[in-house]
Amino acid sequence: MISSSVVLRSLGGMDTTTELPRRPLGRYSYPTSHRVIEIVAVVAYVAFAVAFATRVVGAVSARWGTGTAVGVTVACFAAFVAADFLSGLVHGMCDNLGSVDTPVVGQKFIRSFREHHTDPMDMTRGDFIRVNADNFLACLPVLVPCVVWLDVEGHPYAATFVFSLTLVVIMTNQIHKWAHMPQVPAVVRTLQRSRLILSPEHHQIHHTPPFDTHYCITSGITNGPLAKIGFWPAMMRTCRWLGRR
Ligand SMILES: [Zn+2]
Ligand SMILES: [Zn+2]
Repeated sequence: MISSSVVLRSLGGMDTTTELPRRPLGRYSYPTSHRVIEIVAVVAYVAFAVAFATRVVGAVSARWGTGTAVGVTVACFAAFVAADFLSGLVHGMCDNLGSVDTPVVGQKFIRSFREHHTDPMDMTRGDFIRVNADNFLACLPVLVPCVVWLDVEGHPYAATFVFSLTLVVIMTNQIHKWAHMPQVPAVVRTLQRSRLILSPEHHQIHHTPPFDTHYCITSGITNGPLAKIGFWPAMMRTCRWLGRR
């Protein structure tokens, strides 16, 4: 097995001590308006997630038993798999469809994926907000309607699935960042080795020419099956077809 530091160098290791100038809301290299949106998104997600989690835990506790435990486990595992698939779908589309000039999503989402292939180590120099806020923002259109309209007591497993899904999604970029870092906490390396989160060795497949497979970056659990059924070539053909329209 190759070590994280070997993977780091093979992915184009660069100086990780680059200092960004002090800006009003921390150290970052993009417009302050983006930074404000990111901070608002993180705060909003936490507020809605706490409210939703309280109701989900209450609904599950009220009917706790063997059947409920099985249902909650299945819902959490389904969310774990779905989050990995979604990470690959979004990543694949941002790598292959549109450009940094695409309205709305170009600068906010596509740019970070394109720049990641130019400098894979750049994300390891970003702080928590810069690395993770986009995913907090992406979860809000799912989480907020569920908080407002979902009958949690009547559909505790659906609520568990949605909550778990957003929880894994907001961790995805941090997991991706860890896969590029030369040094990670021992517990993170243990999770990587157990394949519960994306490992550097697994993710290196995506960063190896021709860069056309293994787009999933949460655990990577769906990368193998999707490659086997030819999902990635089909997705890239679809992106090229949509790009011509
Ligand atoms: Zn990529
Ligand atoms: Zn990467």
